Amino acid sequence: MMERSSRSQRPQRGGSRMQQRGNQRGNQRGGPQRGPQIRKKRSCRFCDHKDVYIDYKNEKKLQRFVSEQGRIIPKRITGTCSRHQRMLVQAIKRARHLALLPFVSEAVK
Ligand SMILES: [Zn+2]
Repeated sequence: MMERSSRSQRPQRGGSRMQQRGNQRGNQRGGPQRGPQIRKKRSCRFCDHKDVYIDYKNEKKLQRFVSEQGRIIPKRITGTCSRHQRMLVQAIKRARHLALLPFVSEAVK
């Protein structure tokens, strides 16, 4: 049963195309804001836990910030602040040098 209860009932959209054209100049892209975007926590986990030290010897911890291919995950995804991201990158590179982390993961080769 298709029973539409007159959905297109908009009182203010009265005809006159010409006017609408003129109005298009602003072209506000506002519209309905895209719903709940998938937002990861926007907090740096190293700032949250000040006592956590970014240790290059702790490869388990560093692995969270490295993709499967062995690449360092950008901070916009992990939410790490730039200061800690820098420390993290430094640590990851050290860990790579010590062969604790891969430069390139085996799977990609
Ligand atoms: Zn931080």
